[in-house]
Amino acid sequence: TLTLSHIKKTFNGFTALDDVTLTAPQNQTTVILGPSGSGKSTLLRCANLLEKPDSGTLTIDEESIGFPARLSAGQIRKIRALSSMVFQSFNLFPNLSVIDNITLGPVRVNGQSKQEAQDAAKSLLDKVGLADKADAYPLQLSGGQQQRVAIARALAMNPRYLLFDEPTSALDPELEHEVTKVMAALSAEDASLVVVTHNLRFARKTADKIVFLEHGNIRFDGPADAFFDSDDPRIRQFLSIYD
Ligand code: ATP
Ligand code: MG
Repeated sequence: TLTLSHIKKTFNGFTALDDVTLTAPQNQTTVILGPSGSGKSTLLRCANLLEKPDSGTLTIDEESIGFPARLSAGQIRKIRALSSMVFQSFNLFPNLSVIDNITLGPVRVNGQSKQEAQDAAKSLLDKVGLADKADAYPLQLSGGQQQRVAIARALAMNPRYLLFDEPTSALDPELEHEVTKVMAALSAEDASLVVVTHNLRFARKTADKIVFLEHGNIRFDGPADAFFDSDDPRIRQFLSIYD
């Protein structure tokens, strides 16, 4: 289980997260929803130590860090080995081929042999529907293909949790579908996913649980069915806008 407990995060006195507590259980898909500026990205970034909370506790399975903390490089490495992030803007290395993008981390960080990493990368490319693109360069690919490479790259690190921050919001609807299909397949295989998205269709189809954030606070945390049936007027209003 990935747990953020009583997390507070401020930016120059502005409270982005105000005592936020949530769990993302193993083998489940947790979808984080909420209006723009509600703190969704900040929350996900705290889970991966891209932001450092002011106070609270981050626990991923057996690793736990209480804040404020002076983080060592080793602690950051451990947390990031447990959770891998897929960003909105793909963030592939443009000067490396698809296969080299995927094998770089496993070889350099995880100490896999080049052969081992390439074999694994090929089966991951097959899994995301891009078996024929191993030698292409990122700029030769569509946005949806690039994002699927980014997912394969994250999976290649064998993380226990995959974190997604609006992975499809830079894509037009058809390309978005290619990517959500891959994510839904991972979800169906009981991968542990934490997904920030505005795509309610995806949330309805794949979420086990929903966390709804507003102004840096949690307004809802519970099973997906209960969220979509909620009679909280704020949630109804949100659903009427995005659904
Ligand atoms: P969106 O749906 O638009 O991506 P979000 O829910 O992801 O929004 P965050 O990016 O987490 O929202 O931002 C939450 C609040 O914290 C916003 O008011 C934002 O302006 C502020 N914020 C986030 N990062 C920083 C930063 N590095 N410096 C200052 N303020 C920040
Ligand atoms: Mg965001």
